[in-house]
Amino acid sequence: MYIRKNVDLAKYSTMRLGGKAKFLANINEKSDIPNYLDWAKEQGLEVITIGGGSNIIWGDKGFDGLVLVNKIPGIKFRKANQEEIFLTVGAGEQWDKVVKASTEKELHGIEALSLIPGTAGATPIQNVGAYGQEVSDTIESIEVYDRQSEQFVNLSNDSCKFGYRSSRFKDKDKGRFIIVSVTFCLNSANPKPPFYNSLQRYIDKLGITKFTPQVIRELVIAIRSSKLPDPDKVANNGSFFANPIVSNTSYYRIRKNFDNPEDIPAWKVKDGYKLSAAWLIEQVGFKDKHDKYTGMATWHLQPLVLVNEKAKSTKDLMKFRDKIQKKVFNEFGVNLIQEPELID
Ligand SMILES: Cc1cc2nc3c(=O)[nH]c(=O)nc-3n(C[C@H](O)[C@H](O)[C@H](O)COP(=O)(O)OP(=O)(O)OC[C@H]3O[C@@H](n4cnc5c(N)ncnc54)[C@H](O)[C@@H]3O)c2cc1C
Repeated sequence: MYIRKNVDLAKYSTMRLGGKAKFLANINEKSDIPNYLDWAKEQGLEVITIGGGSNIIWGDKGFDGLVLVNKIPGIKFRKANQEEIFLTVGAGEQWDKVVKASTEKELHGIEALSLIPGTAGATPIQNVGAYGQEVSDTIESIEVYDRQSEQFVNLSNDSCKFGYRSSRFKDKDKGRFIIVSVTFCLNSANPKPPFYNSLQRYIDKLGITKFTPQVIRELVIAIRSSKLPDPDKVANNGSFFANPIVSNTSYYRIRKNFDNPEDIPAWKVKDGYKLSAAWLIEQVGFKDKHDKYTGMATWHLQPLVLVNEKAKSTKDLMKFRDKIQKKVFNEFGVNLIQEPELID
């Protein structure tokens, strides 16, 4: 066991903010898990497992316990039947490396999830999704360490209770399981159109007619790179707010105040309308906004992405977040909900 003390947590969040971890250790193989957990139990410490830190923000106080950073490696392919292949990946593998490996083998199922930062083991937590695919579409099973029964167990797809950006790992059983590996069931047939709206529009514009997983991967990378900052170069957590769902009454109230209500981006959903958080932020004057008081900004190509230009603390980020939420609420009566998890 190798445990470091007083570790700066800013390096463990792509927002690059936060205090210190009392203790931090890497999990390099599954047998490390019970050893570290036993040690933490003896010391009476809280434990959290993380991957690449692309969906977390640490508070300025830091974490008064043991942070386990999942580094478990491994990418293995195994034939399931004539058409399908199982892909088992260690939780610590970089997700995009996994997608790349699958498209190089011409396998279809996760290619639209190209260029999403973070580790493979974190993808089931919020059922990572983009451009019409979600990991829950192809997850066969997940190997976890269950901190309740103190055993390694396999969970079937059904038992993970996946929903839109949700799962039991995020809700009911938060913190209970440490994900060790994920097995996907991928297909050797090529992806077929029609694709997700914005992807299809791009395909139509380029006039592409032959679709392979590799082609879709390249298109998704091109679209994402044209509007999202690379977290290795610009500190950010991707989309900072979820698209809010408002009641029919609220939606029609918002429409009344606009000369061209048809220009309001909105999608009919079961209980009302889903609005574009990016559009709301733009409307209240926060497009390409650089706030000298907090050192925070909104990304010039996508206002939904908050970037840390020179913030001194998580408190600065929270002040900037509050300004946006307050403006949107005052103008539209809509609450913007934060997406990345604040660990405070
Ligand atoms: C530029 C950018 C673009 C993004 N685009 C998308 C997108 O298109 N779609 C999307 O869904 N998300 C997107 N995200 C969010 C993020 O990349 C995903 O949520 C990703 O899966 C997080 O992986 P991570 O390894 O960084 O997890 P972390 O941020 O380290 O952890 C996230 C959560 O998972 C838990 N966790 C991590 N690993 C384990 C494990 N092995 N066992 C148990 N719990 C674990 C942590 O405790 C935490 O609760 C984006 C983020 C950025 C910065």
